[in-house]
Amino acid sequence: MTWRVPLVDLDSLHRPIRGEILEGIARCLDRQNFILGEEVAKLEEGLAAYCEVPFALGISSGTDALLVSLMAYGIGPGDEVVTSAFSFFATAGVVSRLGATPVFVDIEEESFNLDPARIEETFTERSRVIVPVHLYGQCAEMAPILALAEERGLVVIEDAAQAIGARDIEGRRAGSMGSIGAFSFYPSKNLGAIGDAGMVTTREEGLWETLKRLRTHGASRDYLHETVGGNFRMDALQAAALSVKLRYLDEWTRKRRERARCYDALFAESELVEEGNVRTPTAPSDHVYHQYVIRARERQDLRAHLTEEGIGTGIYYPVPLHLQPCFHDLGYGEGDFPVAERAAKESLALPMYPSLTDEQQSMVVSAIAAFYRRG
Ligand SMILES: *Cc1c(COP(=O)(O)O)cnc(C)c1O
Repeated sequence: MTWRVPLVDLDSLHRPIRGEILEGIARCLDRQNFILGEEVAKLEEGLAAYCEVPFALGISSGTDALLVSLMAYGIGPGDEVVTSAFSFFATAGVVSRLGATPVFVDIEEESFNLDPARIEETFTERSRVIVPVHLYGQCAEMAPILALAEERGLVVIEDAAQAIGARDIEGRRAGSMGSIGAFSFYPSKNLGAIGDAGMVTTREEGLWETLKRLRTHGASRDYLHETVGGNFRMDALQAAALSVKLRYLDEWTRKRRERARCYDALFAESELVEEGNVRTPTAPSDHVYHQYVIRARERQDLRAHLTEEGIGTGIYYPVPLHLQPCFHDLGYGEGDFPVAERAAKESLALPMYPSLTDEQQSMVVSAIAAFYRRG
């Protein structure tokens, strides 16, 4: 079907810069240097500056960025990694893949992020890492998380996949606060590649060297392997496209924020919030609006209505991590994390991209209002 208002619109993002991206692709073809190399090095320099850290490394995907971050600390069987019950699967999946145990924490009602007040109760002598997730583009409350980690000698790895360019309440960039920041350049992320790609950031030179080694099978020079790593390398083609897109990221982020303010205003005028049908997102810190997520009464029926009206929506995420079938053996059950479970039932992501127009957003909010008026 053709959407009147799609959930995302990559075409409108890429059309104006198509020529620049194609030039980058041609450059890679001419150089015949397809993996890492100068394209990736140039991107890393730009990304490190953008994230306000000394070191950034291009990685094969956001999932691999999380995986290699845990590997850098030797996380494995017997170790526990504390993280949010409400995130994309990869956040917890990488923990299990290393044989370690994900330990979930409920989220805050307003921000959908890890609730710092609930972290300490999960600590055991096996706790090693805390992974806050900056969900939807808004930083988790980092000060108490960093303080807890410091007190216990734990490592903080930020899952900043959705939050490039965001700042926490103290003005620090996503990915610059923990020991490592993990980013995804999945095509629909705020900074998206033209395939799979990701990044890690760090302030520590020693960690940077470890991560770099792990990225190429744990080898510090050709065919000499001190440790077992993996193939976590970024393609030159992805780096070439990302370098072009990085130049536009601030402009796109500014537009996303404008679009969010437009939704806020439309909802305020509509009385949908006042009547208790919808709750709009709050943003005390510097949100980059990877998603604009409302909470809605009768979410499933509303979503079906919007689909009929040609309006794309998304549900991130319908099943919290502690209730995923693959984690059944961890022993969690329904009711363990009520805030996350409610978010899974009520949250609805509305169309959000830089080229969204006032008219399209009016259409979205009018269609939502019409749904609740139907009686
Ligand atoms: C996208 C995403 C990832 C994984 O990134 P990929 O590049 O798809 O592997 C991890 N965590 C979160 C929160 C994400 O949104």
